[in-house]
Amino acid sequence: MSDPLLLIGGEAVAGAGDPLAVENPYTTETIATVGSASAEQLDGAIAAARAAFAGWAGTPALERSEMLHEVARRLRESGGDLARTMTAEGGKPLIENRDEIEWCAAAFDYYAEIGRDSAGRVIPPIESTQLAMVVKDPLGVVGCIVPWNYPLLLLTWKVAPALAAGCPVVAKPSELTPLSTLALAPCFSHLPDGVVNIVAGAGATGAALCADERVDCIAFTGSVATGRKVALACADRLARVNLEMGGKDPFIVCADVAAADDSGIEIAARGGAWAAFLNAGQVCTSAERFYVMDEVYDDYVSAFVAHTESLVLGDPFDAATDIGPMVSAPQRQKVVDQVEAAVEAGAEVVTEGSGGPSTGHFFSPAVVTGAPAETDLLREETFGPVAPIVPVKSLDEAIGLANGTRFGLGANVYTRDLESAVRCMRELRAGTVWINDPLTDNDAGPFGGFKQSGIGRELGREGLEAFQETKHVHMETAIERKEWWYPYSEYGAAD
Ligand code: NAD
Repeated sequence: MSDPLLLIGGEAVAGAGDPLAVENPYTTETIATVGSASAEQLDGAIAAARAAFAGWAGTPALERSEMLHEVARRLRESGGDLARTMTAEGGKPLIENRDEIEWCAAAFDYYAEIGRDSAGRVIPPIESTQLAMVVKDPLGVVGCIVPWNYPLLLLTWKVAPALAAGCPVVAKPSELTPLSTLALAPCFSHLPDGVVNIVAGAGATGAALCADERVDCIAFTGSVATGRKVALACADRLARVNLEMGGKDPFIVCADVAAADDSGIEIAARGGAWAAFLNAGQVCTSAERFYVMDEVYDDYVSAFVAHTESLVLGDPFDAATDIGPMVSAPQRQKVVDQVEAAVEAGAEVVTEGSGGPSTGHFFSPAVVTGAPAETDLLREETFGPVAPIVPVKSLDEAIGLANGTRFGLGANVYTRDLESAVRCMRELRAGTVWINDPLTDNDAGPFGGFKQSGIGRELGREGLEAFQETKHVHMETAIERKEWWYPYSEYGAAD
């Protein structure tokens, strides 16, 4: 692994601020120490982005498009190394990190095309001698602040549309996973200097980015608590903000899933386990509450438990590993505390999976039943591999419980019944509703949350519009005096 350097104004520089120790969550060894950006270096990165703004905004969209396709090509080319770095610093299985690189490249290709597809629209003018347009301008400098669970994908969902819209960026990865982000620098070296800047740092660096008047928009992904601080900092200076925050996604299983053939319950259980345990449950759209109809509850729990016990915990570099360690000891402890509190309140841990290695921050996937509705396990984000399963009497009850938290990021449903599917589509208060195919993203489909899960959207055309300013242009083709101008006396006295 080459030395982790910051990217400021096209230059690779060693961070001169506080050192960040990066831990491998499997071996628990420190694998690198990264210098975070000093105040002067952050200032330099923002200044470089500002200086690059006019040139990048004025670059023809077709040229920007070609450069974004080149980013995608370079990502694929260096994908193996990037995936290994992500696995070493984050603990996510290598297979999942390889997927993440491909999703990043696909998103750069998508925005390369979307960005050159339109620059606004023509609207009907007031008079036939006029031309009226809605023009989409680049918003300005975008600060991108991301968490550690999908470090490159969540950065891509900001950087790709921002660049496509004509906005330079200053990117700040999580202090837990800076290495893969800093290693991205060569993927951007064909862009003009200052268009992409990457700084390392912890919360203070993020806060300084949010407070800087030269940053026009903050695109943030992280927890609700930090998102609130970001929103307050941006509100104070009336900067634009896009917030992607936590979730407590429900997963509804209807009784009809079992009706047509025997495999329905098994498939819904496997889909549920994947949605709950993917990346050790550290996904913003992890399924964190299962509402299963009484008629199929026992069969569903049995199938879920059996499948959970077959999952392999281990070295995230090992091809046989299904679930790696959690990212850090504090993150794991939060999950332990939440499950223990639920058990004290009467819940039962039906299985703790197959157990994990003795090293690393492993939490063996747990299936929990009997958790009271008011426990944090059923109300607050867990962000770990825990699947609480709750029986429900009807779809009404399932939808009511599903909508009963302060979150609204995603929701999953398994049903074969058209009426149930359409009801869930209409009534679930969530930014994404997945029916019979949990957690599948689509670059063209906007992603984000209702309620406290978010403000704004990433991906799709909405993801580009997040970084555009809207301008109405009204043009009269003839130079002529208008009859409603002064002096009013020319038009006679009013009644
Ligand atoms: P976090 O909120 O602790 O940190 C996120 C980022 O914010 C980090 O880069 C951190 O350094 C930075 N930060 C911390 N304090 C800051 C401040 N005062 N001002 C500006 N930036 C600051 O979140 P995390 O633990 O890294 O990530 C886990 C959380 O992210 C979970 O809640 C998860 O649900 C959420 N998440 C949401 C999505 C989504 O798309 N909605 C996706 C992934 C993760």
